[in-house]
Amino acid sequence: MYDPYLDTTLCSNQPDIGSYWQAATPTSIDYPALKRDISCDTVIIGAGYTGLNCGYELAKVHQRDVVVLDALQPGWGCSGRNGGFVLRGTGRLGLAQLASKFGLETARVFHREYGAAILRVNQLIERGNIACQPQPGGYYKLTHKAGMAKSLAQQAAFLNQHFDYPVQFLDKAQLRHQVVNHQQADAALYFPDCYGLNPLALAHGYARMATEAGASLYGQSPVISFKRLPAGFEVITRQAVITARNLVLATNAYTAKGLYPAINNSCLPVLSSVIVTEPLNASQLQQLNWQQNSIMMDTRMLKYYYRLLPDNRVLFGGRGAIKGKDAADPIYPRRLLAALKHCFAGLEHLTYQYQWSGWVGVSYDDLPRVVAAEPNLFYAAGYCGSGLSFSALAGERLAQLVAGKTLPALPIYQSMLPGFPMSAWRRQGQQMFYQWGRFKDHFL
Ligand SMILES: Cc1cc2nc3c(=O)[nH]c(=O)nc-3n(C[C@H](O)[C@H](O)[C@H](O)COP(=O)(O)OP(=O)(O)OC[C@H]3O[C@@H](n4cnc5c(N)ncnc54)[C@H](O)[C@@H]3O)c2cc1C
Repeated sequence: MYDPYLDTTLCSNQPDIGSYWQAATPTSIDYPALKRDISCDTVIIGAGYTGLNCGYELAKVHQRDVVVLDALQPGWGCSGRNGGFVLRGTGRLGLAQLASKFGLETARVFHREYGAAILRVNQLIERGNIACQPQPGGYYKLTHKAGMAKSLAQQAAFLNQHFDYPVQFLDKAQLRHQVVNHQQADAALYFPDCYGLNPLALAHGYARMATEAGASLYGQSPVISFKRLPAGFEVITRQAVITARNLVLATNAYTAKGLYPAINNSCLPVLSSVIVTEPLNASQLQQLNWQQNSIMMDTRMLKYYYRLLPDNRVLFGGRGAIKGKDAADPIYPRRLLAALKHCFAGLEHLTYQYQWSGWVGVSYDDLPRVVAAEPNLFYAAGYCGSGLSFSALAGERLAQLVAGKTLPALPIYQSMLPGFPMSAWRRQGQQMFYQWGRFKDHFL
């Protein structure tokens, strides 16, 4: 598997992802490769949610001549292969952590910004009539071991009191009666404004909307390098050269080593893996009292996330291999299946039918950035595995930066991604983090 930590280019001939979403989503049009030299106002590298939203906004709102390029097809990166969890937030810091780091007022601005991101996704789905099977039902944050209920109850009180966020605490009986008969969790927090959807269909919808708005979108066009000109940039793909005044890097965790060191050294590509099981039958569903299509994630340091899909399959995700070359090792999906069976009784014979992995971009301070990194060069990266909703807003914010607008006063818009200390040792650090996480999740 392509490994952005090691590989210096992302080629357009990649193996099939093999995801459930590919099987469950009508095929989209193939966007052709760019085969002639062109000029434009802004070139965007990367046609995931971020690049597509930026292209859409630049064309529709700011009337810019914009070209979006992807090495493969729109949504080939994280955007077409994620869990489909529309969450209120990004990065790895919750509101309490943001409040203690930046103060309560700034944390409230973060909360509003994250709310605006969900609202934007909702509006785009409606405006573009995107058939991405939204499954309303909220998000449940579940304890993974005994003794954590009190801390969740305190979190609910904190969020209600300081953010006016109607998060609800559920005890064990409420959880089992109203949501699902979970073997490990003895309490949950319910976040009402989150939901699940089909992420690949969303990416296809965004791509259609961007082109309808006037953006030129090219697939199979990997950017090999770019260089600064006296006025703008020259962007080189395998078959064409694009000259543009502005350059937006929306390659996020898929940024190949050396494409842009300011991202490469500050964003650690980390594999997240997913399995999708065969459909649960009526008696399994009844035994589990699995009533809702809500999205769920646990309180582990090394989290598991899961949801019941519209066709009663379970999607279950968690951390994967460290290196791309190990991503296809069956040990990872087997581990996820075992973890799923620990959560829910009566699934001893359940098997998985789809499994895949993807790279998420983890930043050193657990927060993303959306910035003008240099004159006329912009990037958004480092969503830490939680970027479905935020990327839509990040694309809009990038477009505003290109158009010379001022963004809300938030730290994520005001500084570049901080570099990792000893960045050449990030993978060793990741290994140690996983060992510590396993220990903490079991024993502390
Ligand atoms: C398994 C998995 C599960 C996840 N689940 C969730 C979830 O449930 N909820 C959530 O909020 N987030 C989730 N995420 C994270 C979320 O998917 C991402 O944060 C989000 O999709 C990032 O979008 P993006 O557009 O910034 O990047 P991407 O979608 O990764 O897009 C980057 C694009 O850049 C292209 N590219 C890279 N280099 C070049 C080049 N040189 N030339 C041309 N093109 C290039 C790539 O082909 C790619 O299409 C998950 C991620 C994974 C991997």
